Amino acid sequence: MLITDPQATASTGNQSGARAKEIHNFINGEYVPGQRWFEKRSPLNNAVIAKVAEAGRAEVDAAVAAAQAALKGAWGRMSLAQRVEVLYAVADGINRRFDDFLAAEVEDTGKPMSLARHVDIPRGAANFKIFADVVKNVPTEFFEMPTPDGVGAINYAMRRPVGVVGVICPWNLPLLLMTWKVGPALACGNTVVVKPSEETPQTAALLGEVMNAAGVPRGVYNVVHGFGPNSTGEFLTTHRGINAITFTGETRTGAAIMKAAADGARPVSLEMGGKNAAIVFADCDFDAAIEGTLRSCFANCGQVCLGTERVYVERPIFDRFVSALKKGAEGMQLGRPEDPATGMGPLISQEHRDKVLSYYKKAVEAGATVVAGGGVPDMPDALKGGAWVQPTIWTGLGDDSVIAREEIFGPCVLVMPFDSEEEVIRRANDNDYGLATAIWTTNLSRAHRVAGAIEVGIAWVNSWFLRDLRTPFGGAKQSGIGREGGVHSLEFYTELKNVCIKL
Ligand code: NAD
Repeated sequence: MLITDPQATASTGNQSGARAKEIHNFINGEYVPGQRWFEKRSPLNNAVIAKVAEAGRAEVDAAVAAAQAALKGAWGRMSLAQRVEVLYAVADGINRRFDDFLAAEVEDTGKPMSLARHVDIPRGAANFKIFADVVKNVPTEFFEMPTPDGVGAINYAMRRPVGVVGVICPWNLPLLLMTWKVGPALACGNTVVVKPSEETPQTAALLGEVMNAAGVPRGVYNVVHGFGPNSTGEFLTTHRGINAITFTGETRTGAAIMKAAADGARPVSLEMGGKNAAIVFADCDFDAAIEGTLRSCFANCGQVCLGTERVYVERPIFDRFVSALKKGAEGMQLGRPEDPATGMGPLISQEHRDKVLSYYKKAVEAGATVVAGGGVPDMPDALKGGAWVQPTIWTGLGDDSVIAREEIFGPCVLVMPFDSEEEVIRRANDNDYGLATAIWTTNLSRAHRVAGAIEVGIAWVNSWFLRDLRTPFGGAKQSGIGREGGVHSLEFYTELKNVCIKL
């Protein structure tokens, strides 16, 4: 695969062999270094796996200028049909290089290969196809109106790209979440400057090769690596050549980006944090609820924005549910990504592990009962330096505890009993966040009632992470601003223009 191939030094800018692998910025169709380098370390064992080129103001300027030029150049002149063909070629290109993307994503994140193979990479490719199809098929509106002279006028709407879109991404599902924004942005005719998370630079860089091979004109897709404040992220979001900013990450970061976007009154789309509840009624399909809750709490080591960190269980099945969840958590195998038996990988970094472990400590200090986990697992010597934590279950704390209120973003969950539907709706809603919920019940009327009453952007009934990409995706309250997905992405990535013609 190109990123790790010792012979491959040219197009990706990656150089391996005796020297550390290098990950370069991708600007105007070429790989370029930055102002300085930072280290990317493996979550598995903390070994340095690459040095990454940090883009300074000069590289951000160059990327924005390239994106602006591409809008006026070949990309801007392409017909919709041509653009759709190119985006199909990008999707095919990702699938053709599937193993390269898989290896890069797994190396950056440490996540199980089975997960990345079924979720991250296929969705990365699908995001280009689905939005090409949406843009190709969605009509706009038309109105006839009378005029005083009796002749009349007609109105029709047309969609135009917003321009250069800044795309700021997190590390938990790097390719999937980045293409979730780049796919619709390009389908709508925009150009992009992407800043991947400093923790996961590889797949965004690799996508540059696919873009070139697919015939995407230079400057349409640009990647600048680096950090947030006083670094690439801030240089990009404050850059006045950026016409709109789409962001996925923590709520605090989203607020900082919103402030930056206020200068120039530029639109933002923000997909932010969560403290998602699962609600398990006594009439649920018990095994399905356990299986779904184990996934929603522990998939990707708990690092999924839609993941569950609070579970409300109706009292008659509380003890049985907690013991089944404990059995599932304790049976989860932690290990290397390529081992098919691995159910959970490490957290993304030592820094994030410190944060998660600080909550493990706070839970105990607050008087939680540690039902499962609660600490650092004993890993083999080769993995001892990694960012490993145990899947953890607590009981014994209430809604006011810090564990029930703040997003931890680790493989941990607080399980609490409830007695009535009204009570659980009130308690689930009593939180600053409002991203997603999972409701487990076989009572159809109740399912509709609770789904309607919960203050979230996404309510699942008897499922979790089941995603039809045509549906709206986003958060209520402090979990987000705006919706992306299907036609909803067009609201952000296009300007809707009305043309009024007096006949
Ligand atoms: P983060 O907010 O720390 O970082 C996200 C990105 O923002 C990174 O690329 C970072 O470098 C950049 N950044 C940080 N400060 C910045 C600044 N001042 N200006 C510009 N850019 C800046 O988030 P993270 O730790 O990478 O990701 C985890 C968070 O993302 C969790 O809160 C999770 O819930 C959230 N998330 C939300 C969704 C969603 O769809 N709602 C999806 C995935 C993750």
